[in-house]
Amino acid sequence: MRWLILTGLVLVVATVLGLASSSTSGQAGDLPLQDRTVCIDAGHGGGESGAVYQKRGRNGWTLIEKEINLDVAKNLRTELEAAGATVAMTREDDSTVSLGRRVEICNDSLADITVSLHTNSTRSSRWDGSMTLMNKGQDRPLAEVIHSTMYNGLKENWDGRFTDYGINVDAWYIPKNTSMPAVILEPVFLSNRDEAEALKPTIAEAPGGRRSRVAQVEYDGIVAYFASQ
Ligand SMILES: [Zn+2]
Repeated sequence: MRWLILTGLVLVVATVLGLASSSTSGQAGDLPLQDRTVCIDAGHGGGESGAVYQKRGRNGWTLIEKEINLDVAKNLRTELEAAGATVAMTREDDSTVSLGRRVEICNDSLADITVSLHTNSTRSSRWDGSMTLMNKGQDRPLAEVIHSTMYNGLKENWDGRFTDYGINVDAWYIPKNTSMPAVILEPVFLSNRDEAEALKPTIAEAPGGRRSRVAQVEYDGIVAYFASQ
């Protein structure tokens, strides 16, 4: 009796595995980012912390931009790879990487696009909203599609005031020096008190939280851009 059950179980497992592998291979051609390469630049790192938010008081805590950027970047990479993309990263840990080296990594990867991930900050804790930075002409279509997707996706997920700061064109180093369409994304302000509270847990700690929402809208923007090409 025990052997019969065991044999039956093995058959069921084998059938499930067989079905799973055949359905995966059947969908391979339908992945939205098949044959696309994306270079992800997690802003700051190592000796350069980026913006810092400090909650004062006895149970105070500190949020560091470089850590948020890397957490979001790793999650975005996972999502892009699941959609069939090849992903290059300018850093995968808390190391110091020069802007020149970041550009070199993205250009050497022959990526179709580069997205540099940051989190915004200002002196006033009332500001919140999205901004996208670009430089050269070929950045424009990417900036427009990814910015509107990002802003709308974050606004609808947020109770407080959320402003569209639009697209800022200037001699930003990474967009200026990369050989493909590139943007710097500033999805939210970590200097905003409510936003900082929402950004505090990591994606592992809060899988449906604000950080994973940021990664999700950046992913959606990238998919929308390639779909528009
Ligand atoms: Zn930054």
